Amino acid sequence: MIVGRDRRSQRGSRIESANYRLFLVVAHGSSLGLVAHIGFIPLFLWLGVPVLAWFNVASVAVWALAKWLNVRGEHPWAIQLITIEVILHALLATALLGWASGFPHYLVTLVTFTMFNYRLRNALVALQAIAIVLLYAGLFHWTHAGGLMALPDATLAWLQFGNILISFLTLALVSFYFREASLQTVQSMAELAHTDQLTGLPNRRKLWERLEGEHLRSQHQDRPFVVIMADIDHFKAINDQHGHEAGDAVLCHVSELLKACLREQDTVGRWGGEEFLLILPQMSKQDGVRAAERMREAVAKSPLLRDGKGLSVTLSFGVDDCPPGADLDRCLRQADTALYQAKAEGRNRVLAAETG
Ligand code: GH3
Ligand code: MG
Ligand code: MG
Repeated sequence: MIVGRDRRSQRGSRIESANYRLFLVVAHGSSLGLVAHIGFIPLFLWLGVPVLAWFNVASVAVWALAKWLNVRGEHPWAIQLITIEVILHALLATALLGWASGFPHYLVTLVTFTMFNYRLRNALVALQAIAIVLLYAGLFHWTHAGGLMALPDATLAWLQFGNILISFLTLALVSFYFREASLQTVQSMAELAHTDQLTGLPNRRKLWERLEGEHLRSQHQDRPFVVIMADIDHFKAINDQHGHEAGDAVLCHVSELLKACLREQDTVGRWGGEEFLLILPQMSKQDGVRAAERMREAVAKSPLLRDGKGLSVTLSFGVDDCPPGADLDRCLRQADTALYQAKAEGRNRVLAAETG
């Protein structure tokens, strides 16, 4: 992931991150295409078919142009150029050398490849795919008995084998990136659905998942875990006096401070507006209170610096432990009640829920 992003930024802004996979498909596909078409030139000269050799000189130029367009971020044009080249090449080579030469099989690969062209509407892509299939069928009908030129059977067999091999290789490559693109989409959708956009912390949905996971684990390990509700004090006043943007900055600042206080196995997430939920596995209530106290201190003594001024902010905390098998909703309610009490007692303090 990180490697991909770094490479993307090195390529400059013309390749949008959303199309990075597409860029890779065309980049790898066109490299393979370039090498294959350069190889075809001496092959066709040796086979005594100069017209195909000359055609391949033009093909090499087309593939190089597609590669250039791809680097410039014009992926749909690159795909369209390659599509036209492959169709013409398959048509000409199959008409001259016959079905047995193996050249029509490149059309099979092409059907998958054209699907990447996101500029074409679904109906157009489907139409293009159907046209390619019909062309393939037509080529079989007209050339299965042989092409306009006759080549020795042994030569044709090797030619067919080579062409099928390259077609398969390309199909595998294109399908691999199809798979990568789909997996990445699913992953980024899941990340989006589970992340708070402002702070980057896990959102309430993700916190529920973690809570349920921790609830099960605590039963398995027979150890309690701690839940802490934390709420920014007088946050409305911060918004009113310094503006909503300053309020947002405070939320991010507090998120970072809380994260810095946690162990690796702990979780902090945004439970609601200016309320955070912390999940601390394998911990007693007393240790939870100590941890919350450390966080309270860290926030209280670290004002947010804005325009050369320090914006002080404090947090109130409600702590409860969740023993193995305890009712999760009840633990959360108790932590919330303790928080409410901490507010009532003057804010900027940590209160533990009463036992029982
Ligand atoms: P208390 O000490 O009792 O918690 O008082 P409070 O002002 O913090 O609590 P209150 O519930 O009265 O106000 C919360 C405010 O938080 C109101 C709402 O506009 C603001 N808020 C909620 N989400 C966001 C946000 O994402 N960004 C900003 N800037 N403000 C938010
Ligand atoms: Mg508040
Ligand atoms: Mg609140």
